[in-house]
Formats: sequence, C-alpha cells, structure tokens
Amino acid sequence: MATPTTILKVPFFRPAIGEPEIAEVVNCLRSGWLTSGPTTKRFETEFAAAVGGKYAVALNSATAALHLAADALGLKAGQAVLVPTLTFAATAEIVRYLGGIPILVDCDPTTSNMDLADAERKLELLRAGKIPAAPRRETEVVGIIPVHVGGAMMDMNAVNAFAKKHNLWVVEDAAHAFPAAWRPSANAPWQRCGQNTSAVACYSFYANKTITTGEGGMAVTDDQQLADRIRMMSLHGLSHDAWGRYSGGGSWDYRIVEAGYKYNLTDIAAAIGVHQLARAEEMRLERESLARWYGEALGDVAAIELPNVPENRIHSWHLYPLRLRLERLSIDRNAFFAAMREAGVGCSVHWRPLHLHPYYSERFGWTPDLLPVATKLWERFISLPLFPGMREDERDYVVEVVRRICADNA
Ligand SMILES: *Cc1c(COP(=O)(O)O)cnc(C)c1O
Repeated sequence: MATPTTILKVPFFRPAIGEPEIAEVVNCLRSGWLTSGPTTKRFETEFAAAVGGKYAVALNSATAALHLAADALGLKAGQAVLVPTLTFAATAEIVRYLGGIPILVDCDPTTSNMDLADAERKLELLRAGKIPAAPRRETEVVGIIPVHVGGAMMDMNAVNAFAKKHNLWVVEDAAHAFPAAWRPSANAPWQRCGQNTSAVACYSFYANKTITTGEGGMAVTDDQQLADRIRMMSLHGLSHDAWGRYSGGGSWDYRIVEAGYKYNLTDIAAAIGVHQLARAEEMRLERESLARWYGEALGDVAAIELPNVPENRIHSWHLYPLRLRLERLSIDRNAFFAAMREAGVGCSVHWRPLHLHPYYSERFGWTPDLLPVATKLWERFISLPLFPGMREDERDYVVEVVRRICADNA
C-alpha cells in the first residue's frame, strides 16, 4: 500500500530507528514482560540523568504528562492558567480536562515563544473584566505553561520571575526541548531543559519528535511529592503499581486512593526509548548541521525569513520553520505549501494559533485583536523537513524547490 512517505520525494519526517531499538523491542517481546516494568524503570532513570532532573515518570504521551502535572499542582475547575496561543492543542486542552480556563497569551515576534509582556497585559485585562473567556474579574490565575517552540528555550529566569511575582506554578511544555539548554549569558553555566525545573517539565516521544517511542512522554520534576502524585494518577490512582505487585517483591494488595487515569508507558515503547535516548545528542547534532546548511543554502532568498538562531541556547532543532515575506511573493502561504507538496516535499505549519480554532473562538470568545502578533505571523509559517538521516539529495532537493517557488512567484 502506498504511504505518504512513498508518494513524497522528501517526507516531512522519517523516524531514525536503528537496529538496537529493533533488537531491544524483540528482547522485550521475548521477555514475558510487555507493559510498564524493568525497561520503563531504566528509561526513567536514564532520562532523569540525561536532563539533570531528580524524578522522571514515563507516560504514554506528553499530553498525559501535562495533564498529570497540572493535576498534581492542584489545578481546580474555574481557575485560570496562562498558555501561549501559538502551540499544539495539548497545552491548553489539559487545562480544560480539569475544568480550568486557558488564558491565551500572544507570542514574541522573533522567537515565537510566549511573550511575557503580553502575559502581564492579559492579567490586567482579566482584572478589568475584558477577557471574554474569564468574565469574572476575581478569577484566580494559578499557573503558566510556557512552550519552548521548536526547541529554542525560553529565558527561564524571566519565566520564573514572572511566576513568582504573580504566585503561579510553572509547567514547561518541553515537547520540543530534548535535548535543549539555555544560559542567561555567555559566561553562565548551561542549564538543561529539565534541570532545576521550577515544577514539572513534560517531554514528548511522539513519532516525529526529537526522540520517539511511537507514542510516549515523560514528566520530570525535582519534587518528590509531585512525582509520587503523577505516578499514582498515571495508574488508576492505585497506591502502588503493577510491577511492584507482580515482580515478586511487592504485595498483592493495593488501595484506590483517587480516581486516576491509564497513562503508563509500556516496556515495548521504553525499549525503543532507551536506544533513542542514547543517540539523542548525536541526532541533535545532525539536525543542527542540517539547520546550518539550510541557513547557508537559503540565506540569500529575499522572499523568506529563516528561523532565528538565538544566542546562549542549545537548540534541539525539532522544527525548521520558515517565515514567508508575503510582500515579496505573489502567492500566499497556502499556495506556497501546495506548491511544495506538488513538488513532492512534505511540509507542515506550526501552528494555526489556538484562538483561530472554533473551540477557543466560538466557545470562549477569543478574537484576533486580543492576539495580534500570532494572528499575523502564522499566515507566514511553513516548516521544512528536518530529521536525522536526511540524505544529501533530499536536503538539496528541498532547497531547489524552495528557491524555484520563490523565483516563480516573486
Ligand atoms: C507534540 C506536542 C505535544 C503533545 O505530545 P504528545 O506526546 O503527542 O501528547 C504537546 N505540546 C507540544 C508543543 C507538542 O508539539
């Protein structure tokens, strides 16, 4: 059967699965232990060490990690959380899972990350009764969920100072940010994403993320109480997990102490994860050199703006989003996208901002004038293929097609 990757000359993404991943999955299948067990424990331990966090809980998605982090921090129905409008569905929907109100925040025009000055404005508007999603002025704002868009981290000192000032918890949506690091200045030590995290950092191992387990996620925290709560809620709110019960050491008995969820990662998935983890930096370096190469090969094309390469960041390069200079093109982004597709190059758009989706606009009253930067920016976005194992002929072809489309539609 034809798959999208065989129709396209260059797919948007191709997972880099090696023989060690395959062998470990086979081992797992033969071992007699398929669900959360010894390989998941190993993955948690090695991941925590890799990011420099104390506790890591493996889950079946980043969405689950975000949900359980907000739950562990005590988010209650009717409370509000600051969330960027420029993000994937999960960042805000987990606030809704708990009955909370996502307060959408505009993005920084350069980095595409959440703009903290706009977060400040949104709090003022809320107190003035001017946020339709939260018409009650006394609505309590309890948390903030920054997203490290594309893998270039936010300034976490600024995020933490903002959170402290407003008495908010911080959950990092780090779905793009492994491996990634930042430092406040060139003389300061690097801080990995997940190291000294203010509360919980949530990673994704979805098929096209920087490392993959097919589907999977991880919650990392330095707070044992949060880690314990996340672990318990990931498995039905039981007082201890199945590995503890059936591996010989544990007791058969358990107590249901909460109405929990079913979010645990399987050992089959963790078997892929431990080998992806071992190659994570090698794969990041490959993406970084592809990004540098795109920069050199496309730097002189007037109709496009290349992604910002921020100082004092170790960039994961999960995404390579171009920004079209629409004033220099006779076509819009959608036509540009269609032309790329026509030429056999898989692209993507990250993202249609949340306030331009019916759930947030129709149901919660978000309008473009409340989020003007993201409203304009997203019409210019188109993400190019960028993945380890991308062949020279593939990257050359992408560049050739981008240049041709720009030249033909100047
Ligand atoms: C992919 C992604 C998620 C969700 O990850 P899953 O593991 O698929 O649940 C959350 N936030 C962002 C920014 C993402 O890109």
